Amino acid sequence: MKVTDLSGLPDGVPAFLQSQGIEELYPPQAEAVEAGVTDGRNLVASVPTASGKTLVAKLAMLSSIERGRQNGTGGTALYIVPLRALASEKAEEFAELEQFGLSIGVSTGNYQSDGEWLGDNDVVVATSEKVDSLIRNGATWMQNLSCIVADEVHLVDDASRGPTLEVTLAKLRQRIPDLQVVALSATIGNAGEIADWLDAELVDSTWRPIDLKTGVHYGNALHFDDGSQRELAVGSKSQTAAIVDDTLADDGSTLVFVNSRRNAEAAARRLAGVTGNGLDTEERAALREVATQIREVSDTETSENLADAVEKGAAFHHAGLAREHRSLVEDAFRDRLIRVVSATPTLAAGVNTPSRRVIVRDWQRYDGTAGGMQPLSALEVHQMFGRAGRPGLDPYGEAVLLASSHGELEELFDRYIYADPEPVRSKLAAEPALRTHVLATVATGFATTRTALLEFLQETLYASQTSEVGRLETVTESVLAYLERNGFLEREGDGLTATPTGHLVSQLYVDPMSAAEIIHGLEDGGPDPTALGLYHLVSRTPDMYQLYLRSGDDETYTEIAYEREAELLGHAPTEFEEAEWEDWLSALKTAKLLEDWAEELDEDRIAERYEVGPGDIRGKVDTAEWLLNAAERLAAELDVESTTAVREARIRVKHGVSEELLDLVRVDNVGRKRARRLYDAGIESRPELREASKPRVLGALRGRTKTAETVLESVGHPDPSMDDVEGDEDAAPEEPDRDGAEAQANLGDF
Ligand code: ADP
Repeated sequence: MKVTDLSGLPDGVPAFLQSQGIEELYPPQAEAVEAGVTDGRNLVASVPTASGKTLVAKLAMLSSIERGRQNGTGGTALYIVPLRALASEKAEEFAELEQFGLSIGVSTGNYQSDGEWLGDNDVVVATSEKVDSLIRNGATWMQNLSCIVADEVHLVDDASRGPTLEVTLAKLRQRIPDLQVVALSATIGNAGEIADWLDAELVDSTWRPIDLKTGVHYGNALHFDDGSQRELAVGSKSQTAAIVDDTLADDGSTLVFVNSRRNAEAAARRLAGVTGNGLDTEERAALREVATQIREVSDTETSENLADAVEKGAAFHHAGLAREHRSLVEDAFRDRLIRVVSATPTLAAGVNTPSRRVIVRDWQRYDGTAGGMQPLSALEVHQMFGRAGRPGLDPYGEAVLLASSHGELEELFDRYIYADPEPVRSKLAAEPALRTHVLATVATGFATTRTALLEFLQETLYASQTSEVGRLETVTESVLAYLERNGFLEREGDGLTATPTGHLVSQLYVDPMSAAEIIHGLEDGGPDPTALGLYHLVSRTPDMYQLYLRSGDDETYTEIAYEREAELLGHAPTEFEEAEWEDWLSALKTAKLLEDWAEELDEDRIAERYEVGPGDIRGKVDTAEWLLNAAERLAAELDVESTTAVREARIRVKHGVSEELLDLVRVDNVGRKRARRLYDAGIESRPELREASKPRVLGALRGRTKTAETVLESVGHPDPSMDDVEGDEDAAPEEPDRDGAEAQANLGDF
């Protein structure tokens, strides 16, 4: 099917697609159109990675918007992404649709708003959590949705995030009568079941735009799925290095999937030795430029390690990196400057970074709940495989696993090469998932009786898949009892009503169990809880992903737990309740990180002390800020006296500063470091900054003219210009050299 055969789209769309080099629809895309995706029909498309699912989504959204325009009903299209990081990326991709008079909105912000402004857009991009929270906060514009696209719908199988996607889809479908639902999925075993659940047409295809050979490297040869073999000698190198080298000899790039961040970093360091050899002067200069940009993102060891590898044409990619780091790496890889990236599976999920070869080096990863190494699923491995081969650029793609014995070679063929991907199963019928969704369903008035609640739950994928009669009802009952016990809802006969606190908890988008923990802690904590006490309290909730205890940590944090016992809120477990005690200590370790941050410890010192990356620090800080905001609202609702202490702890952790800097960090472009420098130069508040002598400001900001001007402008100075101003030496911060900083930090070490 040619793009010029498409109908029902805004004028100019086919010509625009042609200008992008898209003349002919890929076969699965043509199937989708034949199945009615441009006529408003529901569709499930289960097709391999990189086979053009996004275009199917665009066609669905464009035609739906065009229909709304023609018949005057309007209507917004909603694109649901699985990861926050993908929201902006997708929105950027959709920005090209603006030429057809469409406006694109992306909702990345915090929860707990109805995002009314979003409704003015034709296309909105958001995560399923954000969509769920918009529903909870009564966003009326959602009633005007005409089309929703769920990207990576196979993630309904994910225990932690799947239920939200599932419930959100079920709710929107029930609420909006003529809503078109398009669900995009990787190739899965039971796409038909998903299509049945959504009353959708099904496109189930294994077609790919570029040939993919899959196989296993063993000994000195690649063994492929078609039975062929190719010699690839390892020599004195590692298998991975030998394959990367072989790909380079053919002018190709390699993506290596490993099972941990540490392994990703170590592999990049080693593989830099391979890529570094063949670089010419021009490439070296370009890579140095990328490395400089990486170092500017943050001054942590992770950042430094990444920059070192990038200078030699290699990189790592994992969730511990800052977002700016990740996009620098992805761009340089697409530009073929970086020739090998070692990544944790985050890169397989969505980011468009194809390469000639993919190596799945580790096919097992540590799984805490299983207490040991567990094999990856075939679905996951196939998604990593799917990144091999760049259509139009590479002649073919190759994806390989590595075996170190003949037995392993056979096992890998059975497990991953010949195996079909697993079926996707709903994870809804678990208490943590239902706890939050049951409360929200009642609080939004979606169900006001137990009967109606159970009827709604019958519309979920879980209900359509399960053969365990009564299980959903049993779990729902125990969740209702929990919510009633904690004062979040009231029951009268069959009737269900959320209490004011229950309403608030639902809107705040926290797990009811987190809210209960926070409420008990605050009620116990008196009017003046300390920052550490509050950080510990929010770190204990199921909404905080706590730091692991490493060897030796047990002792360290047990000691701190006793030293600062009086500050910790709520009922402490004893050392004999082992699991609870461990949890208490992990939360304490997390809280100490937050306290260090709020006491202005350098980012790199924190990274070292807790063995985390800059992305982790920001993640913990964001989560703490969000939970403390919830705590502040709950404290006000319940008339607990500590509201002021909670607010202060929240603002301090948000900016990473002590109390005395709180006024200065309110100036745009003044972060924790600049605020400290200004303060130490005697400029302690915004009025003082406006009045301060320019040489003093310039001196405090280390003579950086541009920075000083921006800062003065931000604080509303009538004449921020620094022309002819000399920095005052006395105001210059004393920055201890690296060794000095170490010595000083060690004094406060524990
Ligand atoms: P998926 O979402 O399935 O992983 P994408 O939608 O990102 O894959 O598509 C991969 C690439 O293929 C994109 O660069 C896209 O522009 C290109 N593409 C999609 N459809 C076509 C087509 N019909 N003809 C040529 N290129 C296409």
